[in-house]
Amino acid sequence: MKVSGAAVATVAVVTWLSFLATTSDAQGYDFFYLVMQWPRAVCNQPRSNCRAAVPRTFTIHGMWPQTNRGGSPQNCPGRVRDVRSSGRVDRGTLGAMDRQWPNLKRGGRDPNSQFWTHEWNKHGTCSRMSLQNYFRRAVDRAASVDVLRLLRSNRIQPDNRSYRRAAIEAALNRYDPVVKCNDVRSGGRTYKQIHEIRFCVQRDGNRVVSCGRRTQFRSCGSGDIRFSR
Ligand code: AMP
Repeated sequence: MKVSGAAVATVAVVTWLSFLATTSDAQGYDFFYLVMQWPRAVCNQPRSNCRAAVPRTFTIHGMWPQTNRGGSPQNCPGRVRDVRSSGRVDRGTLGAMDRQWPNLKRGGRDPNSQFWTHEWNKHGTCSRMSLQNYFRRAVDRAASVDVLRLLRSNRIQPDNRSYRRAAIEAALNRYDPVVKCNDVRSGGRTYKQIHEIRFCVQRDGNRVVSCGRRTQFRSCGSGDIRFSR
């Protein structure tokens, strides 16, 4: 059979276009990490400069576009000066953000909006969503995962005790998220503690899904992991 050069070229172009359409190179990212933080673990650090009272629930750190290859696109066009006063996020959503996405640190006239603006400029701009859709989806997805309840279902609670990885993994196995630790000093010892839990959210922001492989632990060492009170 004779195949014309034009046919070969057409197949090559179509193959290339369909490759582009299914990779993050064309779309910028494949999924989000919805990063939930444990305020105690943010604030029990040296020089953390946190405000006096911090929530006793997991709060949002950010919703970060990620690629399947491990990339994390940042600082895309579309920066804003201030999220709250931009007029581009409705009041209901801003109210939810004040409750679920607080700045834990001191300072500034509107610390929450300062933090959201940092997160939008660095991560949200690469989502290709409007500010309204990006923030609405983040607070809605965060509200759909009761992290403390998941952990409590396996008797893991913020009581300054250390827990086996396997127990944490079992509690979270519906989502297989990434558990990120940091260090805390207590009674002359250094412990690894739960700092953040990064859940996977579909590209369109509409569903929290399993991250697709066993729960990963980052910066958690190999021993038990403390859950700080
Ligand atoms: P990112 O740039 O998105 O990786 O976020 C890291 C920065 O956000 C660091 O400067 C942290 O100190 C800061 N940060 C993390 N959580 C909070 C929070 N809840 N309030 C204020 N700043 C925070």
